[in-house]
Amino acid sequence: MIKTLARPLAFALLLPLVVPFPVGAQQRGKASPQAPLDGHGVSLELARLRARTIRDVRYDLTLALSSADSATGRVRITFARTGHDDLIIDFRGRRLGTVVANGKTLVTPSFNGNHLRIANRDLRTGENIIDADFVSEVAPSGASIIRTRDAVDGSEYLYTLLVPADANQLFPSFDQPGLKARVTLSLTAPRAWAALANGSVRTADSTADRVTTHFTETKPISTYLIGFSAGPWTRFSSTVKGRTIGLYVRKSRAREVDADTLLTLSHRALSWMEDYFGRAYPFEKFDLMLAPAFPFGGMEHPGLVMYNEDRFIFRDRPTLARRVGRFSTILHETAHQWFGDLVTMRWFDDLWLKEGFATYMGAKALADLEPTSDSWKSFYQGNKPTAYAVDQTMGTTPLWQSLANLDQAKSAYGAIVYNKAPSVLKQLNHLVGEDGFKRGVREFLSTHAYANATWQNLLASIGTASGRSLDAFGANFMVRLGLPIVEPRIQIVNGKIARLELVQRAAQPTLSGVGAWPMRTRVLLAYADAPSERLDVDLSGPVTNVAAAAGKPAPLFVFPNADDYGYFLSLLDTASVRSLEGGAIRAISEPLLRSMVWGALWDQVRDTRMPPTRFADLVLRELPEERDEQLIPSLTGRLDRAIRAYVSDADAARLRATAETVLWTGLSDSSRPFGVRRGLLDAFINVAATDAGRIKLMSLLSADSVAGEPLRDPTRWSVIDRLIVLDDARAPSLLATQVARDTTADGRRRAFTAGAARRTATSKADYFSRFFADKALNEDWASSSLGGFNALEHSELTLRFLRPALDSLPYVQQNRRIFFLGSWLSSFLGGHRSSEALAIVQTWLAAHPNLPADLRQKVLQSADELDRTVRIRAASR
Ligand SMILES: [Zn+2]
Repeated sequence: MIKTLARPLAFALLLPLVVPFPVGAQQRGKASPQAPLDGHGVSLELARLRARTIRDVRYDLTLALSSADSATGRVRITFARTGHDDLIIDFRGRRLGTVVANGKTLVTPSFNGNHLRIANRDLRTGENIIDADFVSEVAPSGASIIRTRDAVDGSEYLYTLLVPADANQLFPSFDQPGLKARVTLSLTAPRAWAALANGSVRTADSTADRVTTHFTETKPISTYLIGFSAGPWTRFSSTVKGRTIGLYVRKSRAREVDADTLLTLSHRALSWMEDYFGRAYPFEKFDLMLAPAFPFGGMEHPGLVMYNEDRFIFRDRPTLARRVGRFSTILHETAHQWFGDLVTMRWFDDLWLKEGFATYMGAKALADLEPTSDSWKSFYQGNKPTAYAVDQTMGTTPLWQSLANLDQAKSAYGAIVYNKAPSVLKQLNHLVGEDGFKRGVREFLSTHAYANATWQNLLASIGTASGRSLDAFGANFMVRLGLPIVEPRIQIVNGKIARLELVQRAAQPTLSGVGAWPMRTRVLLAYADAPSERLDVDLSGPVTNVAAAAGKPAPLFVFPNADDYGYFLSLLDTASVRSLEGGAIRAISEPLLRSMVWGALWDQVRDTRMPPTRFADLVLRELPEERDEQLIPSLTGRLDRAIRAYVSDADAARLRATAETVLWTGLSDSSRPFGVRRGLLDAFINVAATDAGRIKLMSLLSADSVAGEPLRDPTRWSVIDRLIVLDDARAPSLLATQVARDTTADGRRRAFTAGAARRTATSKADYFSRFFADKALNEDWASSSLGGFNALEHSELTLRFLRPALDSLPYVQQNRRIFFLGSWLSSFLGGHRSSEALAIVQTWLAAHPNLPADLRQKVLQSADELDRTVRIRAASR
């Protein structure tokens, strides 16, 4: 009953620009020895108490689903108990009904809206049975059961998303990952619907208009992994070597889905993982579901993996990066069946364990299964720049994140667990070798199967298997925050290397003097007319002498992290930068190395060592030669950022005109491969702004083919979005035509997000209040519209929303799912480049000294780029 939109609805409607800081939110989740066990959320003390005194949990859960905004249910909780404490059960659904403890109806159950307390006198030592009736919310957002209405055929689909701690919003439970339970589910739903869950369908009985589906009991799973769904799904399936995988897609999109490919990729993913882990798939069955308006990329419910429908159905010809991205998501969620589902973190402080492994194992599998995909380059591109960008801010956290209460578990999600964690695992694998790593992982999985584990358990398993202590590794990478910046320092005498040193320092000046990060890396010396040399180096202190380099000829350039094993931000020495700019970058034949060197040059820009104009000019010189389609988006993305945010207005005008020409020439060049042309097209659409650029944008809309492919709706939408952002006079009528033309579900979403990109004060105010007040608005639509709302071109209009956006953080944290808060902050802060905007953020932080640490960290993470932007602009004047 705490879940209500009433408060934010009122403030958003009445005072859209003066959002009060919700009372009581500041202190939530803080560790406090006096906090009652049945206070808000699930405290670590409560979780520990229950872990000690409760065992063998089973939930027998019955729910009646319909199109209504609530679901009625009943749960029987069976468990074994020791001790004499009162029992605390978590529940914050809409209403709690009758509660029966061991056959005795409790006349006035002690229920405070968060927890149900059952007195010791009503409990037994040994087996106990608690029965409870309840009602839970069903809503497009903010509820444990998400409802989406198909805009095309009016069908309704329901699905759960309980991660990280919303199972107790659905039903009374012990909602902590360390208390696994066997779950038996029965779902009653309209006859036309199919019901899906973690288990298989055991039996079904029906009346005239309803069907009750009974599912088999699951293996022990954590509450956040319970998943089910109901709706008029279309089912596809495929059987390989006796294993059948089902794929569920909503009716209106069933024709668009490439079912055979998704099923085949899932079969390949499962068998690769079984092989590597040396263990059969640990659950009873494996189904996939493409969830409409899904707020994540995927979710690993054992037996029922949900994926983001929009990312899995390609409406136009996909580039290699998109295809690899989709397969990587499948590999990630499949790896979770072992890492996360079979062995689960004991508490969300170790969230990194499952997320890091899922991504790292996904990359390993991809490298094996698709050798031409250049898996480790995608891994670098997908993880390192993001991890470094957050880990170098003042808001960073260690991989292991202390967590006093699960009501703050959402804050643990972000670049540190998703991008730093897999990067650290790559370093660990390099350190201990293939054999020790694999044997350690297998040992870890068998020791903790169907149970829980911590990072210490993992390092113990890998340490034992590889015969080395990983204590220092744990101290430096699990519990220590931040990362080092490593720079080569080279002395050349008579054309030969006299001395090469790798100098490291903490990325945050405030962390300097706390010691170096030990690391095993590989230094590359590049030569113009000889093969490059790779030297393995153990970084041990602030300065490491690369003894093996002495006496070798002077290199063209030095790169301190060849093959990307190290976890550190690489900067380059002056001579290396000079040769790279002089043409050496074009001569790098290895795509991973070329990608990393571009990353290091960009970091020179972000560190105000290289003017952004020089970087942009270099990109514009090299783009016509770049043949690697996976590199194009990162190059053009940085070019776009430099032009839009970093350089002076005069330089921006010059660079933009050149960029339009270079990109247009490239995308029109039929001798270049599709993926390259497509990447250049996307970049052109983003950057175009001059009169000539707008004419070209318009011409795309009437062209028969674009970048060698027929023009399809997603590209039309992108072009129109850009014209809307530019406030082009033709945009409104183009938008109206496009809305009428694309009546698909995706078309409806695009129409909504396009509206947020209108350059008018009323439109901005309208969307801002809808983000809070519109009960029918789902999170997927809301987050897709944040970019257009906060277009940098509109910063004068959006500046007034910056403070209210910050004020609403506690509401967003409480009422939106895990990734929304990060997108919210990066979109609102990313929409600005002025010192005025930076001052608003700094003043706001200073005015909220009691802001919970996790929220402060998130703000600092996003504010770092704004701070750099202001400094880069000041230096570029
Ligand atoms: Zn994951």
